[in-house]
Amino acid sequence: LQLESIKYEKMQVVSHLAASMSHEVRNPLTTVKGFLQLINENPSDIRVNSELSKIAVSEIDRATEVINQYLNFAKPHPEMDIDVNVTGEIKRSKEIIMPLATKKGIMMETELLHNHLIKGDPNKLQQVLINLMKNGIEAMESGGVLDIYSYEKGGQLFIVIKDTGIGMTKEQVTRLGEPYFSLKGKNGTGLGMMTVFQLVSGMNGTVKVFSKKNKGTSIILSFPVSVEDYDREIGVI
Ligand code: ADP
Ligand code: MG
Repeated sequence: LQLESIKYEKMQVVSHLAASMSHEVRNPLTTVKGFLQLINENPSDIRVNSELSKIAVSEIDRATEVINQYLNFAKPHPEMDIDVNVTGEIKRSKEIIMPLATKKGIMMETELLHNHLIKGDPNKLQQVLINLMKNGIEAMESGGVLDIYSYEKGGQLFIVIKDTGIGMTKEQVTRLGEPYFSLKGKNGTGLGMMTVFQLVSGMNGTVKVFSKKNKGTSIILSFPVSVEDYDREIGVI
C-alpha cells in the first residue's frame, strides 16, 4: 500500500513538472512568434531585424534548455552552480519582457546599483525573473509601472519586482505557489509561482510577497552574495 502511494506521489510530481515545462516553453515561443511578426511587418529594416532575430535565437536556446532540464529530471544530474551576474540577468529578462509591457502601455523602470554575484544557474534565475515580471504586467490592466531594482545589504542580494496592479488578498497571497492556483482562467496555468518558489529555494534564496488589494504587489527575492563587488562598471538601465 505504501509503495503504491509513493508511486502515486511520484507520478503527481512528474505530471506537475510536465505541465510546468509546457508553461516555461510557452513564454519563449510567444516571444519568438511576436518577433517574427515584427520582422514580417518591416522586412527591410535590417538593423532592427538582426537585433530581433538575435534575441529570438537566444529565446529558442532557452526553451531547449528548459526542455532538457525537465527531461533530465528523473536522472541524477549535476546542477549548474556557477557565479551568476544578477544585473546582467535582470537586464536580459527585461529586454525579453519589454514588448509585452509596451503593448499594454506599462513603463518598466530598472535601477541596478551593485556589482555582486550569486551562486546558482543563470537560466533558472532568468525563468524566475520572467515569470515575476510577467505576473506584474498581467496584474496591470490599465497601464502602470513595473519597478525592478536590486541592491546588496548585509551579505544578501535583494531583487525587488514591484507592480501597481490589482494586488491580492491575504488568502490569495497564501495560495501563491500552489500548483494550478490561478485567477486568470484560460490565460493562466497557475504554475508560474510554483516554479519560482522551487527555483529560488534551489539557489538558497527566499521569496517574500507584499500585496495590497487594488494597490499593487512587491515580490522580494533574496540570495546569499557569492562574490563581492566584482570589477565592472555599475550600470543603470
Ligand atoms: P498564472 O500567472 O499562470 O495564473 P502564477 O502561479 O504565476 O500563475 O500566479 C498565480 C496567481 O497568483 C495568478 O493567477 C494571480 O491571480 C496571482 N498573482 C501572481 N502574481 C501577481 C501579481 N503580481 N499581482 C496580482 N496577482 C498576482
Ligand atoms: Mg504567471
